[in-house]
Amino acid sequence: MDLILVRYGEIALKGANRAKFERTLEENIRAYLKREGISFSGVSRKRSRIFIFNPSSVPDLSEVLGVVSYSPAWEFASLEEVKDFLRSQEEVFKNASSFRITASRADKNYPLTSPEIERELGAVVHGTFSTPVDLKNPQVNVGVEYIDEFFYLYFEKIPGWGGLPVGSSGKLVVLLSGGIDSPVAAFLMMKRGAELILLHFRREPLTDRIGEIHAALSRFSAGREPQLVIMELGRVKKFYDIIRRRDETHRYMCVLCKHMMLRTAEKLAFKKGALGIVTGDSLAQVASQTLENLAAQRYGLKLPVYSPLIGLDKTEIVNIAKKIGTYTPSIEHREKPCPIHSHPVTKARMDKFFQFWDEVTEKLGYLPWEKFFGKK
Ligand code: ATP
Ligand code: MG
Repeated sequence: MDLILVRYGEIALKGANRAKFERTLEENIRAYLKREGISFSGVSRKRSRIFIFNPSSVPDLSEVLGVVSYSPAWEFASLEEVKDFLRSQEEVFKNASSFRITASRADKNYPLTSPEIERELGAVVHGTFSTPVDLKNPQVNVGVEYIDEFFYLYFEKIPGWGGLPVGSSGKLVVLLSGGIDSPVAAFLMMKRGAELILLHFRREPLTDRIGEIHAALSRFSAGREPQLVIMELGRVKKFYDIIRRRDETHRYMCVLCKHMMLRTAEKLAFKKGALGIVTGDSLAQVASQTLENLAAQRYGLKLPVYSPLIGLDKTEIVNIAKKIGTYTPSIEHREKPCPIHSHPVTKARMDKFFQFWDEVTEKLGYLPWEKFFGKK
């Protein structure tokens, strides 16, 4: 193998967005190779492909978001050289039940068309090894791409996650609970190019589950790993104590607590130059995630809240969590941020929510997040 040929989803991107996408993807690939200790002689880009030359091993580019697929490949300066190479591939073709050649040209000036290239190369393989051609279901798939006067040949196309490279769309603050949902929400926004700041509120001493979730998300963002910010709920114990004093407000605990978290996340976003908040909310997944409760807890925020799981089923979310490695630490993480009432409100009323929020913060004498950031 001479190089890795990397494909990305360029079609939907236009103008300045595309230039930023390509630059960021190339930077992220370099950061990934450095992290993995894979040496290489160069990385370059031409015609919607990124080339990693002479890598010391085959990288796992499913860990670099934005990569649609990639292939360990060989480079040739002429079609004759490709033919010589194919003739030397006895191991590949000798015992194969069938093969197919698929050619494409980024440069339409080449004198042969793609089907003509396929036929010429196919004839060489068949003539040398007598391997039969099967266009529908071949055992060996040979890809050949003609790009700027060179031929690139490969036997496998390894799928990546697709999406956009981390860092190409800007920053977001994620409310990360440690449950199954919010790490998946974080991943999906990262897959759309967002760079993340993870905000976790904890009641008890930190378990390393959060560290494991942070590590799993960092795996997909070499060079732009999310920052993890931990806030101790012990600092706002009084806020919870006041809510618990009355049964009526206690039933609104979750809604008031989420509002506090969202407002704190918003403060953090302003400090860090982030443009929105991400949560793992999924509509009606638990009794507290009703439209009424979501509306109440989000009321009055200045920044948008993104909840990419809102329309997904639990099984779809679990499938992604398993694929990205956050499922196990998530099911082991059991902490609840607040002391919940035995009959929490499921259809929060906006007027009640306001009344309780005002009463609680008035009794408190300050706004809860001032305990996290200091007065300003
Ligand atoms: P998750 O699986 O992400 O914990 P959930 O289905 O358990 O979500 P809730 O517990 O109602 O639902 O939490 C809804 C969202 O609120 C979470 O997805 C997360 O974004 C945020 N959140 C909840 N607890 C915390 C916490 N301790 N720290 C930061 N954010 C939190
Ligand atoms: Mg939870």
